[in-house]
Amino acid sequence: MTAQIVSARPAKNAVDPRRPYAFFVEPEATASGSIEDVATIFLTNRECPFRCLMCDLWKNTTDDTVPPGAIAEQIDYALARLPAARHIKLYNSGNFFDAKAIPPGDYPAIADRVRAFNTVIVENHPNLCTEACVRFRDALGTSLEVALGLETVHPRVLPALNKQMTLEDFDRAVELLLRDSIAVRAFILLRPPTLDEEQGVEWALRSIEHCFEIGVGCCAVIPTRAGNGIMERLQREGLFTPPRLVSLERVLEAGLRFGRGRVLVDLWDVEKLASCPRCGPPRVERLRSMNLTQRVVPSLACDCGT
Ligand code: SF4
Ligand SMILES: [Zn+2]
Repeated sequence: MTAQIVSARPAKNAVDPRRPYAFFVEPEATASGSIEDVATIFLTNRECPFRCLMCDLWKNTTDDTVPPGAIAEQIDYALARLPAARHIKLYNSGNFFDAKAIPPGDYPAIADRVRAFNTVIVENHPNLCTEACVRFRDALGTSLEVALGLETVHPRVLPALNKQMTLEDFDRAVELLLRDSIAVRAFILLRPPTLDEEQGVEWALRSIEHCFEIGVGCCAVIPTRAGNGIMERLQREGLFTPPRLVSLERVLEAGLRFGRGRVLVDLWDVEKLASCPRCGPPRVERLRSMNLTQRVVPSLACDCGT
């Protein structure tokens, strides 16, 4: 499966190991209910060794480990250009605690640069969650949150995603992190391959419920998208269809109504789902506002069927 996924890939983008490939500040709902600015830096580093079926994050990565000091230099570059923020996401298109992605020798320099933020959020594969997370949090001296890809609790689809992780692995990672007071957010896919629209909604909600059940504080729902080669192939074969906007709305509404933790929907590229010129822009605005306020607001009627 891995070979098929890799062989279907288009070319990577050219990236500079001394520069982050993107950075911005945007507001986000915090655990306490306030809305606060979060800086996000997309670090340039070596490609993730996992090869998940739906992943397109490898596009902005290097083939080799970046030189010592390069990650700190990228953070300096972004922070010098960003407005102030309370929290920071250091997202690296893979796993922060993958020693070939972020050289562990750089942890002290990274910690020096971000310890003034209230929360530092990094992403990581559940099977790479070890005591290293705790040591990094101790070096930071501020709150650490780890974002883990659960993707789905569907018992047939999760193994088919090639993530090389079981639900038990995910649960174990969450337990380890929470035991040491490291907060957890989870990424959940809306309508991964082979699920129809209704099943897509149902399993996204089941996945959110599972996360809250085991103590995850925030669920970020990502509409599954094509763009990595293999997903387009599955789409042609009828095995994958991107979710509809209305499904994203349903999942956010129902997820917020659980009242168990924060639920966010990923609005990157959402315009592709919101194609109706009449209702698309106001519906995206509604989702943005629900993300921020964590409250359900009345939906907008339209007869376009998107
Ligand atoms: S673990 Fe994350 S970054 Fe790595 S291939 Fe899977 S989805 Fe992509
Ligand atoms: Zn419409």
